[in-house]
Amino acid sequence: MTRSEELFNRAVKRIPGGVNSPVRAYGAIGEAPRFIDHADGCYIYDADGNRYIDYIDSWGPMILGHNFPEIREAVLKACEKGLSFGCATEVEVEMAEFICEHLPHVEMVRMVNSGTEAVMSAVRAARGFTGKSKIIKFAGCYHGHSDALLVSAGSGVMTSGIPDSAGVPAGCTQDTMTAVYNDLDSVKTLMEQAKDQVAAVIVEPVAANMGVVLPDEGFLQGLRDLCDKNNALLIFDEVITGFRLAFGGAAEYFGVKPDMVTYGKIIGAGMPVGAYGGRKEIMEMVSPSGPVYQAGTLSGNPVAMAAGLTQLKYLYAHPEVYTGLEKKGTLLYEGMKDLAEKAGLICHLNHISSLGSIFFTGEKVCDYTSAKTSDTKAFANYFLSMLKGGIHLAPSQFEAMFLSDAHSEDVIHETLKVFSEVLEKGN
Ligand code: PLP
Repeated sequence: MTRSEELFNRAVKRIPGGVNSPVRAYGAIGEAPRFIDHADGCYIYDADGNRYIDYIDSWGPMILGHNFPEIREAVLKACEKGLSFGCATEVEVEMAEFICEHLPHVEMVRMVNSGTEAVMSAVRAARGFTGKSKIIKFAGCYHGHSDALLVSAGSGVMTSGIPDSAGVPAGCTQDTMTAVYNDLDSVKTLMEQAKDQVAAVIVEPVAANMGVVLPDEGFLQGLRDLCDKNNALLIFDEVITGFRLAFGGAAEYFGVKPDMVTYGKIIGAGMPVGAYGGRKEIMEMVSPSGPVYQAGTLSGNPVAMAAGLTQLKYLYAHPEVYTGLEKKGTLLYEGMKDLAEKAGLICHLNHISSLGSIFFTGEKVCDYTSAKTSDTKAFANYFLSMLKGGIHLAPSQFEAMFLSDAHSEDVIHETLKVFSEVLEKGN
């Protein structure tokens, strides 16, 4: 028995499903998840000493690679002063100033502890600001696990094959309307049905939780226009795309300005952090400056702020990280596409910059319905074969691959070699 199997056997007795987040489970794969001991650069090492090239990257935050020296040092230095004070600190002000000075769409920002909290709070602020109650989300987009947003959600919910979550009373989702990604008409219809009661449209500007699905040309601008026309706020959930597609995230990449934005993991560089921000007049509604209540004992934690601010400053000072990710993304994902085509594999590959997904379907994947045509059994076989070849991927068809700055071109060629061997063996 491997050490991972041993640990998993212990874990299932005390932790539901043996994991603290469902996306870590190997569910349909039928094996124990690999328990991780440590990671460095683009490599992750399991409890049995196996080394893998990691394309999970902690689901996004490790954009500079694991155990990045400057971040580690900033964390150690912050720890020397104490782990948490529950009081205001200078580093929180620096973080807020740094974000607002460099992102034109963020005039004020509030730190929280996760992406879930960020989205939940942004929606509350949007409702408080507009005085309206309905929100429109898109099927297959995931915005964390707060009650109102667990409707046709992507990520682990989609992987589990359940439409929504048990335990969410109907009352909690009665104001959540669901539109079709890349279908502006579906949004227009909901806006008409809602009769001026839509507080906000929330979207993953690049959907990365039903696998990677790109916005069609004009989709995001179309949402902007529909929101303006209907006095609704546009919220970009940039928990994955923020500081990843570009320093200014998808808002900068696509040149569309949201009213509010949510961030997560990447601004903590691996520490538990989230944030929401946007126009000053909206953010001033938030407690204690306004009537929208939102709080957090550990929010703006000094150790997490030290880690996150170091990462953001590094990214801002090194724009070549982004050009590098574009180049390496093309090398990896176009390389995979070529190999798959040559091998006659029926698949569809979506990618943008560092994010990519291979869908085991012949259909063009542009929304939740087309993503669900994927053959998840074929994905499971591919996942296991890649793992055996030393490539660590998300154990689900409906998640993204994440490239980091630490993935060198050599490492990408090595990945392509493994992929080509997997294809040769017939996946
Ligand atoms: N929003 C998006 C787009 C996400 O991808 C996620 C998580 O992956 C969340 C929100 C929730 O973030 P967290 O897991 O930090 O609560």
